[in-house]
Amino acid sequence: MTISIPRGTKDILPGEVEKWQLIEKKARELCERYQYQEIRTPVFEQTDLFARSVGDTTDIVQKEMYTFTDRGGRSLTLRPEGTAAVVRSYVEQKMYGFPNQPVKLYYMGPRFRYERPQAGRYRQFVQFGVEALGSADPAIDAEVIALAMNLYWELGLRKLKLVINSLGDTESRNAHREALINHFRPRIGEFCSDCQTRLEKNPMRILDCKKDREHELMKTAPSILDYLNEDSRKYFEKVQQYLKDLDIPFEVDSNLVRGLDYYNHTAFEIMSDAEGFGAITTLCGGGRYNGLVEELGGPETPGIGFALSFERFIAALEAENISLNVKQEIDCYIVAVGEKARDYSVKLLHKLRMAGFSAERDYLNRKIKGQFKAADRCHAKYAAILGDNELEANKINLKKMDTGEQEEISLDEFIDYFKSIME
Ligand code: ATP
Ligand code: MG
Repeated sequence: MTISIPRGTKDILPGEVEKWQLIEKKARELCERYQYQEIRTPVFEQTDLFARSVGDTTDIVQKEMYTFTDRGGRSLTLRPEGTAAVVRSYVEQKMYGFPNQPVKLYYMGPRFRYERPQAGRYRQFVQFGVEALGSADPAIDAEVIALAMNLYWELGLRKLKLVINSLGDTESRNAHREALINHFRPRIGEFCSDCQTRLEKNPMRILDCKKDREHELMKTAPSILDYLNEDSRKYFEKVQQYLKDLDIPFEVDSNLVRGLDYYNHTAFEIMSDAEGFGAITTLCGGGRYNGLVEELGGPETPGIGFALSFERFIAALEAENISLNVKQEIDCYIVAVGEKARDYSVKLLHKLRMAGFSAERDYLNRKIKGQFKAADRCHAKYAAILGDNELEANKINLKKMDTGEQEEISLDEFIDYFKSIME
């Protein structure tokens, strides 16, 4: 019996992986421009970290975690998201004491969630995200949003919708919370069991319920925007002003509630509105989490970040018919015929590579025609042709593949010559 890949995961093969590399490269390049530095944290963490930070009323903690007990009896969890670990590290490594403030970090890597697999929803997926810790300036909210939008734009996406909301500060949230409880309580029996638990624990999360989306009480629920106090309202206005200054179009949606418990003030999502993208349209989600550092044992520190997945990014590119043009070509393919020439080509190939060129030779003992075909298949710019006779005469033929032009070069000078034409 053959063994198949685990449900909800996928292999990314050559031909496809170049897209991933390109997104990765662009993300790193943007982070350099925006001055975010990479942080790498373990793939697993203590289970308590997620229970405490992500929140025990969330889908993630309630039903999506890959949790296991290791041989030492510790409960560990494969990370389902990135923020918790970054903040854990921020506190543990005392980054609040670093000279450069705010601390601006980015991460890239696999996440694990036990979900029902479907288009855009995997059990292992790759997220890119940033976190800016230590500043409560609304300009940084705009910066974080701009970075995410720019990444999509620079790789060609056009059909994007940015939706923002404010969840307010603690005072505003508490007032809203009260109003939500009063709104839902009389008819909470009509809601799913998750929502019934959420009513007391975190009623705002009812608004994010996927099962009860269509319930009439959802549409008439009190809006957080009516409960923002003066400070929260001003903060939100400032974020909006900055987005306008940066020419980033957005919509305000007072029903936007992020899945995680620790958000306050700015919350945002970027969706694709490309036709035929399918039911799951959110590409990126983020927001401010001013209480989280404290929750994890650090000093009171504001923070904001986002996370987006490569899987949905690529799906959005496909929905907009954007093919990331990843050119795959090599500098030189050595076509060697005859035993001595083939032996020599091992050395020559090595020299080409040591000189910094991408180069390949035949390993299947193909005839000359087959070797040229192989050179074509890897889009070689040049073929270097060597037979036993040429070797004897200390010569090699260099063929420019696109024009067919061919010239004879002294074998000793080949590498230098190749360098000169490739400059
Ligand atoms: P959803 O509402 O779609 O379940 P979420 O609120 O659980 O999303 P976040 O935890 O905010 O998602 O993660 C940020 C981003 O990561 C999402 O906007 C989405 O692009 C991506 N993402 C989340 N879950 C998955 C998954 N299972 N497979 C692929 N991408 C995912
Ligand atoms: Mg989810």
